[in-house]
Amino acid sequence: MTERVEIKDTFGELQERLKGSKDSFGRLMREVVNSGVCTHCGACVATCDFLIWDEVAERPKLVGKCTGCGVCYVQCPRTIIAPRDLIGRYQSAYTGRSLIPEIKGQDGGVVTALLLYALEKKLIDCAVVTAKSTEEPWKPVVKIVTTREELLKTSGSVYSHSQTLIGLIDAIKQGYHSIGFVGTPCNIDAVYKMWKAPFGLVRLYMRANILAIGLFCMDSFSYEGLRSFLELNKISMSDIEKMTIKKGKMQFIQKNGEILEVKVHDLDRYRSSSCQFCTDLTSENADISVGSVGSPEGYSTILARTGIGLEILLDAAEAGYIELQPMPRSKMKWVFNLARMKKAQQYTVRTRRRFILGYEEPTPTPPPGGELIEAKGEIKDTGTIIKDAAARTKMIKFSNLNLSSDQKEIEFKLINNSGNSLENITVKISHITEFFEDHKWFTNIDVWYPFEELEFSYPRVKENENEYLCEIKDRFGTIFTRKIEIKKLLAKLEKAKQSK
Ligand SMILES: Cc1cc2nc3c(=O)[nH]c(=O)nc-3n(C[C@H](O)[C@H](O)[C@H](O)COP(=O)(O)OP(=O)(O)OC[C@H]3O[C@@H](n4cnc5c(N)ncnc54)[C@H](O)[C@@H]3O)c2cc1C
Ligand code: SF4
Ligand code: SF4
Ligand code: SF4
Repeated sequence: MTERVEIKDTFGELQERLKGSKDSFGRLMREVVNSGVCTHCGACVATCDFLIWDEVAERPKLVGKCTGCGVCYVQCPRTIIAPRDLIGRYQSAYTGRSLIPEIKGQDGGVVTALLLYALEKKLIDCAVVTAKSTEEPWKPVVKIVTTREELLKTSGSVYSHSQTLIGLIDAIKQGYHSIGFVGTPCNIDAVYKMWKAPFGLVRLYMRANILAIGLFCMDSFSYEGLRSFLELNKISMSDIEKMTIKKGKMQFIQKNGEILEVKVHDLDRYRSSSCQFCTDLTSENADISVGSVGSPEGYSTILARTGIGLEILLDAAEAGYIELQPMPRSKMKWVFNLARMKKAQQYTVRTRRRFILGYEEPTPTPPPGGELIEAKGEIKDTGTIIKDAAARTKMIKFSNLNLSSDQKEIEFKLINNSGNSLENITVKISHITEFFEDHKWFTNIDVWYPFEELEFSYPRVKENENEYLCEIKDRFGTIFTRKIEIKKLLAKLEKAKQSK
């Protein structure tokens, strides 16, 4: 007779083991189901008595009180759980700081102290690092440094892409063979490819030894974007002493001691587009990785990955350049959590398509009798259309209704909030009077990706303006309508202006 498996006991044991984790059914819904990557396998439903499979919505459904134990989350084939899958291979994790008083690092100053040790002990002939431009404050510039004085000027983080690989190849061309290199995870991936892949330039033609020190990295921003954001806040780039990102907030610390703090999310429009598609938080291909998450203020979190990385780290500590302590397991969980957020981002990328609508002059008007006239709209679609399987649901979110700065266009966003791709969609926007519909504009969307935002900019009619209508149809009929009452919108904007 086969032995009966007691699911209840196993479930309880797993709950006990996962105690304190932040995983829950809500997280599973957010990361997997709502983002449209659920495979409909039913593993979560099979796990928990509070879950059933909703045949209509084709998704798991909670029918009891979720305790947030996370057992369903860890069963799902789409979630990433194992430490190695989250932050790559590493031999040891430490928290540490520089013991060199002149180093004023971003966090613990460990990166600069390690490079100093390697330069002074002649383990490397130069270091390829990123400094701030003296002509354009906070613009990243790559430097090849060989002395203590030069190196000390390059500590600190610059939150914009730096062309570090140009510096690396320049250093090799200048005849340096042992090179310390610092970069973000995407920079480290470029080094890895050029150095280790079969057709890599460095591997084939430019033999060199590279000590790759990778930074942790969640985002970087356009330099011009950050500059204009600060200008809007009446701050010049040259007034900034330091920028930091901690716990979802970016701080701009000014030389006069004042701090402008904003949510990183509020800087989304300036975020480099590449970062939305990035899943490596901790520079998984580096020899040593360094970041701040998990360590107290003034300390860095350090992962020694390769043999040479670990050796140099321990030697630098023995020689008195840095102080090291093993990273407590309880603190590593912050690194894993942030890494998981970044990995899950691949499922939650919100693509955007922008539609700027315009009519040919003169604006067509309805003829007597009310026959509808098709307006000739010029459509600019700057996005890519993603082909994907789809299911039909009726969940559209209408948001960000506003007027353009010159008040000539009505702007709004439509978000496919259904969690599924929607196919063969027609969006119609028109002006409506009591009896007629005019200035109609249509667009067809082959596939509307889950959570994809469609941005619209629709020109207001110049004469006898009344109301507008947005209507969305799929092949089965109308799935969304929304009347835009322009008078109400104008009154709301006026009120907001007066209360400022
Ligand atoms: C764009 C960016 C985003 C980051 N995001 C996070 C995050 O989300 N979480 C986290 O824990 N840590 C993040 N970090 C890492 C963190 O800011 C520190 O760099 C890290 O903790 C090392 O601190 P330190 O005091 O030891 O380094 P320091 O001794 O101050 O040395 C910093 C080194 O970084 C190099 N550097 C600075 N800017 C760049 C750049 N743009 N590109 C390449 N190299 C550069 C410098 O050359 C210098 O060698 C980020 C860093 C950057 C550059
Ligand atoms: S109680 Fe059930 S639904 Fe809630 S997290 Fe635990 S396993 Fe998932
Ligand atoms: S376990 Fe994950 S993939 Fe499977 S049905 Fe549940 S949410 Fe979907
Ligand atoms: S988030 Fe990724 S792509 Fe963006 S700077 Fe960091 S490592 Fe590079």
